Amino acid sequence: MTNLYDALSARFPEDRSKTALDLADGRRISYGGLEAASARIANLLRRLGVAPGDRVMVQVDKSPEVVSLYLGCLRAGAVYLPINTAYTRGEVAYFAGDSEPALVICQPARLVEIEAVAQPVGARAVLTLGAAGEGTLPEAVAAESDSFETLPRGPDDLAAILYTSGTTGRSKGAMLSHDNLLSNALTLHDYWGFRPDDVLLHALPIFHTHGLFVATNCALLAGATMLFQPKFDAAEALRLLPRATVMMGVPTFYVRLLEQEGLTEELCRGMRLFISGSAPLLVDTFEQFRQRTGHTILERYGMTETNMNTSNPLDGERRAGTVGFPLPGVSLRVVDDNAKSLPPGQIGVLEVKGPNVFKGYWRMLEKTAAEFRADGFFITGDVGVVDDRGYVSIVGRAKDLIISGGFNIYPKEVESLIDAIPGVEESAVIGLPHPDFGEAVAAVVKMHPGAAPLDPAAVQAALQDQLARFKQPKAVFVVAEIPRNAMGKVQKAALRAQYQNTFT
Ligand code: ATP
Ligand code: MG
Repeated sequence: MTNLYDALSARFPEDRSKTALDLADGRRISYGGLEAASARIANLLRRLGVAPGDRVMVQVDKSPEVVSLYLGCLRAGAVYLPINTAYTRGEVAYFAGDSEPALVICQPARLVEIEAVAQPVGARAVLTLGAAGEGTLPEAVAAESDSFETLPRGPDDLAAILYTSGTTGRSKGAMLSHDNLLSNALTLHDYWGFRPDDVLLHALPIFHTHGLFVATNCALLAGATMLFQPKFDAAEALRLLPRATVMMGVPTFYVRLLEQEGLTEELCRGMRLFISGSAPLLVDTFEQFRQRTGHTILERYGMTETNMNTSNPLDGERRAGTVGFPLPGVSLRVVDDNAKSLPPGQIGVLEVKGPNVFKGYWRMLEKTAAEFRADGFFITGDVGVVDDRGYVSIVGRAKDLIISGGFNIYPKEVESLIDAIPGVEESAVIGLPHPDFGEAVAAVVKMHPGAAPLDPAAVQAALQDQLARFKQPKAVFVVAEIPRNAMGKVQKAALRAQYQNTFT
């Protein structure tokens, strides 16, 4: 019976005055401060009648108070349910209706609109928390006690529900147990060699697995210090790197850092580890970063539903374009359309099993049943391949697979070749409805600043010796920016919608 909070706090530094969160405005929150603040939250939850298993929905800006809120929910046995601040009223109404939270915490400026969607679904209260730590939540906890006896939790009890990013369709609520989160945090802590003297540059949002669980739980387990930034700003990151030892980021962070002239080997001398995930890291970014800083970015792969599944090694070769090996305790296999396991070198859908894998989708029994095999493996929906040395590569998502004239096309293969054409910065290859072929390949391309735009003929000429005709793009759209969400994921569904009538 372990509550994730107990497991974390058992490893908090003996000297509780040590800084846990070092903030952009110069404030510091100690480990003792987190303990006290999370106790006050847990006491408030009890006073408000938030029972174990009740959901606490949180849509607020990143601040240290949010870390205490997360920990306080764990301690009281409530289910922490953060959502992206970008979600509009209509989206929040969907998430509130789906999750029926007992308590909602929102940005002060949005109180009226959030109350209007939270009250009809039975929320007991809506409290506010602003970016500077102001609002009715901090007012309500001020009088609460600093101590709270953390509730024991069974391994299957939920710690959090996190909605998936909604890249391939409507977001699904992934039910994550205390044990799911703890087992993965312990694994990552050890695999990446976290230590008490680590200083983690934390500039990720904390409504998502990456910033909330991977980054925060690893740092807390180590009793390390986080340089806790409200958001990623490349110039600010450059200023902080000399004080940090580890950085976690989405690929976009690394692209932005490379645009900074000040990014040098000297600046990164004190760093021991740069980690990337949430979206594919371009080989080009990986290589440029190594040239500029002398550091080899460690890429890993995970999902909201599974926490982290694979990682490149801390010691040993980190291979560009791969996401490394299955983590200790995680089983991974590649299967074909008939669920038959495939040998190394063959492309198929990735399935995973382990203590990291979630308890199912919230209130979606059929969807949950459809995504699990009888032997407990979860069907990730990601398409990949394992090489003969065991390195896993992600080729794309099953839903992004293009079928043209009966042939399968993996977008990544086409994208890699287009990206190598001089002048191209990056590309997104999608399938669009086509009267003859069912789907036809189209490429959305972003050029380097100042490079002349490409047309389909130029792309076809560049690819003609490398790629079968049916894989070559029949349409090329040059755009100023490839659309991405907050986690740096390319929005292919949006692109398909935008260009859907190209061939019809
Ligand atoms: P939805 O499930 O709602 O469509 P989503 O899958 O984007 O959205 P997340 O759980 O945030 O939601 O993202 C997990 C996905 O991110 C993985 O399934 C994988 O496709 C992608 N991903 C994560 N890390 C990497 C990586 N290192 N390389 C390539 N893809 C990655
Ligand atoms: Mg997904």
